[in-house]
Amino acid sequence: MSSFDLSRKRVWVAGHRGMAGAAIARRLEREPCEIVTAARSELDLLRQADVHAWVADQKIDAVFLAAATVGGIMANTTRPAEFLYENLTIETNVIHAAKSAGVKKLLFLGSSCIYPRMAEQPMKEETLLTGALEPTNEWYAIAKIAGIKLCAAYRRQYGCDFVSVMPTNLYGPGDRYDAENGHVVAALIMKIHAARMSNSPTVELWGSGTPKREFLFTEDLADACVFVMKNYSEELFLNVGTGRDMTILELAESIARVAGWKGTLTFDRSKPDGMPRKVMNVSRLRDLGWSAQTPFDEGIRQAYDWYVASVANRAA
Ligand code: GDP
Repeated sequence: MSSFDLSRKRVWVAGHRGMAGAAIARRLEREPCEIVTAARSELDLLRQADVHAWVADQKIDAVFLAAATVGGIMANTTRPAEFLYENLTIETNVIHAAKSAGVKKLLFLGSSCIYPRMAEQPMKEETLLTGALEPTNEWYAIAKIAGIKLCAAYRRQYGCDFVSVMPTNLYGPGDRYDAENGHVVAALIMKIHAARMSNSPTVELWGSGTPKREFLFTEDLADACVFVMKNYSEELFLNVGTGRDMTILELAESIARVAGWKGTLTFDRSKPDGMPRKVMNVSRLRDLGWSAQTPFDEGIRQAYDWYVASVANRAA
């Protein structure tokens, strides 16, 4: 296994205000490297010339490319142009700038939605591009597939050490707590907390509650990203997850338990279910020596407590 030494490196976390990027920046504080970030007001990742100049000026050695336009199932279906255009642009700008400036290592973060809707479960890395995508998030998926292919192409043509990881559905501190645009964990934490505070007897879930998803705690993702940057140097991307899934109803019940809310869950079947099941085969990364450590209930407890302290109580 090849290794990349982070000592004394200038490491840029692109997207450090997002949930994944912020977790990576926190995790890097335990490494002997210099963490570099750029505020959005300082650097707009959609502006190619600015990105190229910034990466060269900053003498960046390594990049975690966690910047992306992201959102849950409704945001994906209602804003397809933004999801496709902005993600493609960020990827091409950052990846090409990294190559031009001689960045030694880059890690690109994709998503488990790159896999075909009917991929065999748990999904193996080799299933990429073997079937049609899930329509509710194909815009985002196509941009993320392009990012994987950019890293592979730059490796083949220019010898760049650019690698990719595909995280499963993430949750944790710093998530986007937005009932319309957020992902399911954040949305349900918000809804269930609000029901608890107002003594409301019901909470409505979108869809049927039967789709199955795998959830990874952000701090585990960040640890995996640092592990991969240090230890992996191949063209094939790596799945990052727990390898275990649950139904959306089971997820809601866990959050209700953590929140101490005892009401009834109902279903709004006019909202989309999306992919019927999405769980990763994580054996490739496990064989390299990494596996997720945070038990689900503990991760949900931390995410819930963070939401209450940082969002709900501040807004109150
Ligand atoms: P996906 O994994 O790309 O489908 O993204 P999401 O995290 O947005 O949704 C996962 C699943 O949770 C889908 O089946 C949704 O229909 C379901 N779901 C249930 N209630 C909610 C909710 O309040 N918000 C969101 N975003 N999803 C919900």
